[in-house]
Amino acid sequence: MRARARIKRDFKPKDKFLSTRKRFCRFCVDKTKTIDYKEIKTLESFIKERGKIVSVRGSGNCAKHQRRIAEAIKLARFLSLIPYVR
Ligand SMILES: [Zn+2]
Repeated sequence: MRARARIKRDFKPKDKFLSTRKRFCRFCVDKTKTIDYKEIKTLESFIKERGKIVSVRGSGNCAKHQRRIAEAIKLARFLSLIPYVR
């Protein structure tokens, strides 16, 4: 844990993707948005073209909503609403 914190501090401002881009959880911002396994449009914005789930770093979600998204995607995959791999 300590080593990880040190790595985080070492990021330089020129590292655009890590420091200047403001990240927010779109589900925390817009409370009307729901995470449902039937809402494929919402889920598809969190999967890559090959079918992988986008990580927290890519999606900007908070831990709670990232967990919900991952669960919904896995359920949707099982029900073959979303392919496992493309
Ligand atoms: Zn959130």
